[in-house]
Amino acid sequence: PATPDFLKVSDLHAGYGQARVLQGLDFSVGRGEVCAVLGPNGAGKTTTLRALCGMIRGRGSVTLNGTELLGRSPEQAARLGVAHVPEGRGTFNDLTVEENLRIGAHLRTGLGRRGRAERAAVAADLDRIYGYFPKLRQRSRQAAGSLSGGEQQMLAIGRALMLRPSLLLLDEPSLGLAPLVTRELFEIVRAVNEEERTTVVVVEQNAQLALEIAHRAHVLEAGRLVLSGPAERIREDGQVAEVYLGVS
Ligand code: ATP
Repeated sequence: PATPDFLKVSDLHAGYGQARVLQGLDFSVGRGEVCAVLGPNGAGKTTTLRALCGMIRGRGSVTLNGTELLGRSPEQAARLGVAHVPEGRGTFNDLTVEENLRIGAHLRTGLGRRGRAERAAVAADLDRIYGYFPKLRQRSRQAAGSLSGGEQQMLAIGRALMLRPSLLLLDEPSLGLAPLVTRELFEIVRAVNEEERTTVVVVEQNAQLALEIAHRAHVLEAGRLVLSGPAERIREDGQVAEVYLGVS
């Protein structure tokens, strides 16, 4: 990629109170790349994403296009282009699909009255997202809580895309979804990455699937990276598959 250190994580430490989870991570993601973070339960994958998006504090350095992200609030990180789709999605069940998507736009532009140009921009963003997720367009006036699990995950990703992020952080998008639905979702993530050059960091239990769309992958164990490399190399490494990815 043209900017190999678009996201640069250096000696990142983070945790919860006394619990030190991340023990000094170093990795870079090139602009426009999809990076998978894999590893067993409790390795610190979710914690890594939380540190990148300002949900928890971290020590070390995390720069996005040269700008330090550590020490920012989630709102500040969002304005700098970081969109986080947490595990469990965080959409509002009682609001409609379209209302949930519009919240994503508020995060970018702030609340308050919009001029005509801004309203047009939001309408164009909605249209762009419905283009990726036709099912959301069909259900735009339905309450989010009435959607299937897969549709709710699409909504969470769609809402994040309303931010027009340069960095999209996805935490376990496949959680609780049927394999076919997960595949559909990953194909859409791939399309977004290809069409908008959005840089993606995806944390996944389903390593096989994540490695299909990822360019590079990092395997995390007990808060440290134990393996990094091009996705195809990690996919083809039989021992890696057995030891770290839970397949044989
Ligand atoms: P999983 O796939 O199980 O979510 P993970 O690799 O994402 O695994 P993390 O969720 O980052 O792992 O958790 C790493 C460690 O941090 C675990 O030991 C976990 O118990 C601990 N942890 C996670 N969240 C908190 C929290 N809010 N407070 C205290 N400890 C936490």
